[in-house]
Amino acid sequence: MSEKIKLATIWLAGCSGCHMSFLDLDEWLFEVAKFADIVYSPVGCDLKEYPENVDVCLVEGAVANEENWELLLKVRKRTKFLISFGDCAVTANVPAMRNMLGKADQVLKRSYLELGDVTPQLPHFPGIVPELLERVSPVHEVVQIDMFIPGCPPSAPRIQAAIEPLLKGETPKMEGRDMIKFG
Ligand code: SF4
Repeated sequence: MSEKIKLATIWLAGCSGCHMSFLDLDEWLFEVAKFADIVYSPVGCDLKEYPENVDVCLVEGAVANEENWELLLKVRKRTKFLISFGDCAVTANVPAMRNMLGKADQVLKRSYLELGDVTPQLPHFPGIVPELLERVSPVHEVVQIDMFIPGCPPSAPRIQAAIEPLLKGETPKMEGRDMIKFG
């Protein structure tokens, strides 16, 4: 067998549903393990620093705060093939609903002051609570993306059909309703 690829996943502003769907691959994850080493993932390993020279990375979630932004830029630099994984990554989807309220300070004021029943206060602790970006963006507005897997979440069969060829160094065909339907 040829050398295993280095596979990663990251979780930005999303509900983790896309990662749960990834785990729904169930026993096929043993097949993944034959072809890939999981080098960074909230559900697949415990490394805290995103490594260099990653072959493939699935990105769940939109870009909503400074921590998301910084991680995504680092991941792009260190990854050959980056995948927008799920509707929040592809379109900004649910996290972008806050864009309708306006910029970050308007969102924070509405959420934590106007609607705060008990000791209303803004969440602020430098180095601990990441600052919100002025608006939530889909991943491809921040970095170049190599492939999109839509779905909220993408089903396990769709995830398998998308990444199985990549594990073998081939390009998947993202065509037809089963592969590209949103929602
Ligand atoms: S696409 Fe859907 S399942 Fe995935 S993170 Fe967004 S809301 Fe959750």
